[in-house]
Amino acid sequence: MQPFSVRRLDDDTAFITGASAGIGRATAMKLAALGARVVLGARRVDRLNEVKTGIEAAIPGALVAAIAVDVTDGAGLASWLHAGERALGPCSILVDNAGLALGRAHVADTSTADLDTVLSVNVRAAFELVRLVLPGMKARGRGDVVFLASVAGSEPYAGGAVYCASKAALQAFARSLRAELLGSDIRVLTLDPGLVETEFALVRFGGDVAAAKKPYEGLTPLTADDVADCAAFALSRPRHVSLDRMLILAQAQLGTQLFARKT
Ligand code: NAP
Repeated sequence: MQPFSVRRLDDDTAFITGASAGIGRATAMKLAALGARVVLGARRVDRLNEVKTGIEAAIPGALVAAIAVDVTDGAGLASWLHAGERALGPCSILVDNAGLALGRAHVADTSTADLDTVLSVNVRAAFELVRLVLPGMKARGRGDVVFLASVAGSEPYAGGAVYCASKAALQAFARSLRAELLGSDIRVLTLDPGLVETEFALVRFGGDVAAAKKPYEGLTPLTADDVADCAAFALSRPRHVSLDRMLILAQAQLGTQLFARKT
């Protein structure tokens, strides 16, 4: 007797953005382990190829495509999707994961360039991707859309206005989409992680290693695998079960404001 059921994903092709690192990379590995064919997307193609090789080594017979994409490029997104579909079949799972925060500046000091980048990667790309994959999912009558939002979307903090607003937008977008798709067999899932130790902080602080370590000091953060486990669990539920929204926090954090740090 298994402690809980696992529905395999042998009939699925999962498209994962931001698969060159962190949560996206971990999710690609877990979904491949469940039998899904996986199409990896991100800008660093060398890293994508490493992820592909790692999955193929860990899971004999896994079918993986590594295709470079910059999610801020609308035409590039369409090409990525078409190339992935030609290689491994129609998209039945979309994991909209690529995302970033830039700095901790307060609103008055936030540059327009940073505003545009964060909104374009975290929000605009999600809209574009969903618009691209939805017609196929509707025609085939089945699909899953997973958004990597954040606890920051519902608990905004000082010095994170653009990032928090982008994740709130994603949460609202997911709710609207879920309402539009009610009664269909297309599920919409939002994952709201808390502190996850990935390259996220390094990107946020422009490569400053000391600053990037600070958020995790004195506590045990989540790992990318912890979050990927939740995605894999949700996607492997029977199709009548929709894990609408999952808040995944480190045990030592309460939302975005309170942390129990050991000094
Ligand atoms: P990460 O390790 O920095 O990975 C981010 C991924 O996004 C990378 O693969 C990066 O690939 C990709 N990416 C960034 N800009 C891109 C672009 N323009 N085009 C294509 N790909 C792009 O961060 P992570 O922690 O795994 O973050 C994944 C998601 O989880 C994000 O949406 C993030 O907001 C969310 N999240 C993270 C945390 C956390 O504490 N880490 C908490 C809550 C939510 P390339 O650089 O190769 O393009």
